[in-house]
Amino acid sequence: MIPISIPNLSGNEAAYLAKCVETGFVSSVGNFVGQFADAVAERSNGGFAAPVASGTAALHLSLLAAGIRAGDLVILPSMTFIASANAVSYCGAVPWLMDVSPESWTLDPAQLMAALDKETHTKDGNIFHTSSGRRIAAIMPIFMLGLPADMDPILATAKQYGLPVICDAAAALGARYKNKAVGDLGAFATTYSFNGNKTFTCGGGGAVTSSNESTISGINHLATTARQGPDYNHDQVGFNYRMTNLSAAVGCAQLEQFETFLTRKREIAVAYSSAFQSIGFISSFPSPEWAGSAHWLSGVHLDLPKKDTETFVSKLRESGIDARAFWKPVHLQAPYKHAEKEMLDVTNEVHSKIVPLPCSTELDNNSLDKVIDRVQKAASAL
Ligand SMILES: *Cc1c(COP(=O)(O)O)cnc(C)c1O
Repeated sequence: MIPISIPNLSGNEAAYLAKCVETGFVSSVGNFVGQFADAVAERSNGGFAAPVASGTAALHLSLLAAGIRAGDLVILPSMTFIASANAVSYCGAVPWLMDVSPESWTLDPAQLMAALDKETHTKDGNIFHTSSGRRIAAIMPIFMLGLPADMDPILATAKQYGLPVICDAAAALGARYKNKAVGDLGAFATTYSFNGNKTFTCGGGGAVTSSNESTISGINHLATTARQGPDYNHDQVGFNYRMTNLSAAVGCAQLEQFETFLTRKREIAVAYSSAFQSIGFISSFPSPEWAGSAHWLSGVHLDLPKKDTETFVSKLRESGIDARAFWKPVHLQAPYKHAEKEMLDVTNEVHSKIVPLPCSTELDNNSLDKVIDRVQKAASAL
């Protein structure tokens, strides 16, 4: 089987891991942790960075740092990996799920603006969701598949309502919005994942960036059990969300290949979109002119009934391509069945039609040609 996306460990990963073992610095103290934080801050143009244990931990800590409290509502698109919504739940808050726009599959700025306009009221400087009575505490755009959300109108709405914006840029390190890097868009905080299936991996890991140094020092504090100084004094209920030196060593080696990996991801995306252009029911993933995607995942959107999509996927699997279904949106997941939600027409329409295809950075041209050939055959057999 040609896999969808596996880690590319062809650089200095083994050498840096050996250095951790030789020096004994395998845990949360060690040079790689700080080096990795600096590299993430630099690549994202995000100012300051806190390295943490996962992308989910990065979201959880960012929400806490933004003042999200139990009972609050946090706005996010339903079209995301469930971890985004889970981070909201960890704060005792509740998601308010919104739709994505067809041009980008990211948070629909028009629906966001209309929902805040029609369904909320302001009281004592806070904004409340009128029907549930809950305080609205943040907006969390998701940078879907490595593509940024349309941040200018989202940030304008956030400013109008005084809401902090936390960008879940889990797989979008290297992406650009109107020629700015993802850490530089004016959000309260931006989060990244370095899980094994992302373009850049630490094995497991995450990071938060912010242009505000005190936000990042607060997040570092919460990630290290809110410990003050060398004695065992803790000023609040913190978390053990630290990144280890072992993980950071892998991450440092990965980010040395920043441009190489991004270039290969882009080449794969371009190869698929040009190869399938002539197949009427296949379209590429969105690429609005304001966004430069990091192309975490490549694949096809099939404008076909569900049954045909399933046949297409199983044909590909039979021919050695590890195609599979994509994320099921948050509102269709058991824990979020009763979440607050807007009309989710685009989400409902799109999610079951997305079929990711192999796009590891190590994928060579022979394998790429094989995938293209098998997709064309599976498509013509429908
Ligand atoms: C991968 C991903 C996460 C979760 O990151 P982990 O490191 O696995 O915790 C969250 N949100 C999105 C959009 C992701 O793609």
